[in-house]
Amino acid sequence: TATKRVALVTGSTSGIGLAIAKKFASIGYDVAVNSFESETDIAEAMAEIGANASGRVAYFRADLADPTDSFELVGSVIAKFGQLDVLVNNAGVQKVAPVEDFPPGDWDRILAISLDSAFHTIRASIPGMTERGWGRIINIASAHGLRASPFKSAYVATKHAVIGLTRTVALETAEKGVTANAICPGYVWTPLVATQVADQARAHNLSEEEVVRQVMLAPQPTRQFVQPEEIAEMAAYLCSDFARSITGSAISIDGGWTAK
Ligand code: NAD
Repeated sequence: TATKRVALVTGSTSGIGLAIAKKFASIGYDVAVNSFESETDIAEAMAEIGANASGRVAYFRADLADPTDSFELVGSVIAKFGQLDVLVNNAGVQKVAPVEDFPPGDWDRILAISLDSAFHTIRASIPGMTERGWGRIINIASAHGLRASPFKSAYVATKHAVIGLTRTVALETAEKGVTANAICPGYVWTPLVATQVADQARAHNLSEEEVVRQVMLAPQPTRQFVQPEEIAEMAAYLCSDFARSITGSAISIDGGWTAK
């Protein structure tokens, strides 16, 4: 489209967020990159995003575990780029432990980063979007927003809640040119998952290939990882004008996981 648009992607120096930031940069958006990482990680990600960018790209450090940081992140992006049209809530963390042993601090942190931060960035973004009559809110949930797995209580609870938040926001903004959707990936091949393969292989005394097929991809009927670019293409599609009627949806990209 001819209109200049600005996208904020949270947690966009790695994995899925990085792929989404690269996609939006490559189709001419001004892109606000966010994370809470070391300087070297940021420099690498910014170089990758900038490589095919035709709009502006800027980095915004914010700790999304902090409600004030989350809310003010949106204000900083608007101060820099003049507006915010697309909000992608992607930052997320995982912790695996039985519920009775689940560290309460990790519970709080997982909810703060993936759920509370989405509430704060959304409430900061909606006034500008509704004023201009166009906006896209995309929350990266998970197959775990629709199905459970053992030992992931905080993550599963958070992702279910993110879908509920998405549906509510969709109803509230339905007549204002704003859509809100959740994307629900199955296992995606990201640095986070890649490092788990070696750890799981040691823990289960299996080869890395066996871990991938027998442990990680057991719930994913395709027995293949989703690639981050597949999520990025869906995010871009949701921002097209043809996607204006897709709102309040939880869109699965999970190799058939939730067909079962
Ligand atoms: P990743 O670890 O590769 O990237 C996570 C990003 O979030 C990083 O850029 C990190 O800096 C950022 N982040 C973490 N804590 C933060 C904080 N406190 N403040 C700001 N940024 C912070 O992870 P990923 O696999 O790309 O996952 C991205 C999203 O996709 C998450 O919400 C995750 O739950 C979801 N998801 C991932 C998979 C998968 O298999 N990889 C599947 C379903 C859903």
